[in-house]
Amino acid sequence: MGYDANNIFARMVRGEIPCIRVHEDADTLAFMDIMPQADGHTLVIPKVAGENLFDTAPDSAAAAIRTTQRVARAVRSAFSPAGLIITQFNGAAAGQTVFHLHFHIVPVYTSGAWRPHAREKADPAALEAQAARIRAALAAG
Ligand code: 5GP
Repeated sequence: MGYDANNIFARMVRGEIPCIRVHEDADTLAFMDIMPQADGHTLVIPKVAGENLFDTAPDSAAAAIRTTQRVARAVRSAFSPAGLIITQFNGAAAGQTVFHLHFHIVPVYTSGAWRPHAREKADPAALEAQAARIRAALAAG
């Protein structure tokens, strides 16, 4: 099976469907996960087509990692979690459900439950409020 140019993340890159953005540059896009595992759960994608880490050009993967590091710092600064997990799944067997390379930034809190992966939609207003905190942390540098 090849890359599906109509996957949900590719459509976000083209602006065909909305997402709650926290960062965008020429090569990457970062936005709130609609079914977050924890408050502040953010996704980072390269803009180019590529199902996973293996079939994305190294420069594009590197750009996505750079943005992941920058946004993860902002998430840490905005939410002060006890820890923070970065994940990236390759293939359905590994848990991948959207087939465009992406990195998860998931804060870990000492109190509060870890919600299941890609299960429950969060309140959009809550996601907007979280995104505002991340954008502010990014702006603060
Ligand atoms: P994967 O399972 O492929 O690693 O992760 C895909 C992620 O995309 C999941 O965490 C899921 O919650 C998230 N997701 C699925 N559909 C949408 C959507 O329409 N918008 C946003 N913002 N995230 C989505």
